[in-house]
Amino acid sequence: MARPETVVTEDLNPNHIAQTQLEKALPHLDVPAGMIEYVRRPERTVRIDFPVVMDDGSLRVFTGYRIQHNNARGPFKGGIRYHPQVSADEVRALAAWMTWKTAVMDVPFGGAKGGVVCNPKELSTDEKRRLTRRYVSQLGNTIGPMVDVPAPDVYTDEKTMAWIFDTYDMTHKGQNNLPVVTGKPLEIGGSHGRSTATARGALVAVEEAIGRGLVPGVRSVGEATIAVQGCGNAGSHFARLASAQGARIVALSDSQGGVAAKAGLDVAKVLAHKEATGSVAGCAGGGAVSNSALLELDCDVLVPAALENQITAENADRIGAKLVAEAANGPTSPAADDALFARGVVVIPDILCNGGGVTVSYYEWVQNLQDEQWDEETVNAKLQRKMVKAFHDVFDIAERRRVAPRVAAYMLALDRVARVTQLRGLWP
Ligand code: NAD
Repeated sequence: MARPETVVTEDLNPNHIAQTQLEKALPHLDVPAGMIEYVRRPERTVRIDFPVVMDDGSLRVFTGYRIQHNNARGPFKGGIRYHPQVSADEVRALAAWMTWKTAVMDVPFGGAKGGVVCNPKELSTDEKRRLTRRYVSQLGNTIGPMVDVPAPDVYTDEKTMAWIFDTYDMTHKGQNNLPVVTGKPLEIGGSHGRSTATARGALVAVEEAIGRGLVPGVRSVGEATIAVQGCGNAGSHFARLASAQGARIVALSDSQGGVAAKAGLDVAKVLAHKEATGSVAGCAGGGAVSNSALLELDCDVLVPAALENQITAENADRIGAKLVAEAANGPTSPAADDALFARGVVVIPDILCNGGGVTVSYYEWVQNLQDEQWDEETVNAKLQRKMVKAFHDVFDIAERRRVAPRVAAYMLALDRVARVTQLRGLWP
């Protein structure tokens, strides 16, 4: 008789997950109940339904969000995502994660996130431009250089940020509007090092984890075998930078599939294949691997760099890596966190691991406010210092309090946000 299949049911709603992660930190902290209640919910939820004229002359209505979670430590900050799966709960979770991330990284921002429900792969450049301009003009004063500062996220890029800046600038004359958005092209106030910052920061985190002896048998990034899921801003730069340090990239994927080679991929070749064909799938020099099989490959480091809920109760026991470095936001579910912790697989949590992006966004914002442009070495050196400090802040707590690194990161973040809120005193 066939063995009955084990059915694992887990609530993978991102907002539920963000709440569960927060709850896991609470027993280790002395934060008043009212404060917890306050940070559970976003301060403001903006939903707009807005029309866009399509290339064929028809009119379509899109739904967009901007959710501002907390600004106790500074202006709201967070990316804007264009994806068919964008929902209020996803944006809510991503906004809260930004609050915790800016606090872990100790940059003076709060947390927010935006998103538009759309399939950017089916939109022309002109349609995306009109969609962006209409979304931003309807957001009005919801965003602003000292109020709420967006940035790129999944399927938005420098070009999108340039349109956001221009739209805001056209409607807010007579002031320096460059700091209204980060991740802009270099020619209009972008920062050197911003496009690689998320990946570079994640790589510093991996280096520090190895330095702390958290990856058995591996003494440097150059000795590590690494699988990377997702080949966008975060994943492609991570693969390139790690491979430049001698790491063996044993697999790389995107939404259409992946390519794997035990001996290591020629990353430049895989990226050139993606540039030419639109996907890494089918690149010579490796075999095909599915996105789910990639997660289970035997390797030292797994870097999820795509979307949420990739490692869940369903596959956590089969994860083959010793270290999971969360370049993506929310790739690991709470049940998977527990399973990995029990197995001794170390997770560098998203709110630390991908904090390099918002850190260099902060540097871009400062440069814009001061009308300066720093060189790349300056930016990278500052990022390196911030990342190293944040990494050991979190892992020192994890070691001292014997908790998982994600719990430690929440403890650090929540303590910082609560402390500032109490120092400021609640208005009025
Ligand atoms: P991106 O749009 O540049 O790239 C996304 C990549 O994910 C693409 O290669 C796409 O093909 C791939 N992808 C999409 N669906 C997939 C699927 N089902 N399976 C496998 N791959 C899939 O986006 P990005 O900016 O690199 O963001 C990736 C992740 O990193 C997101 O979770 C994002 O929130 C997070 N992040 C990005 C930044 C940043 O600065 N860009 C900062 C912090 C966190």
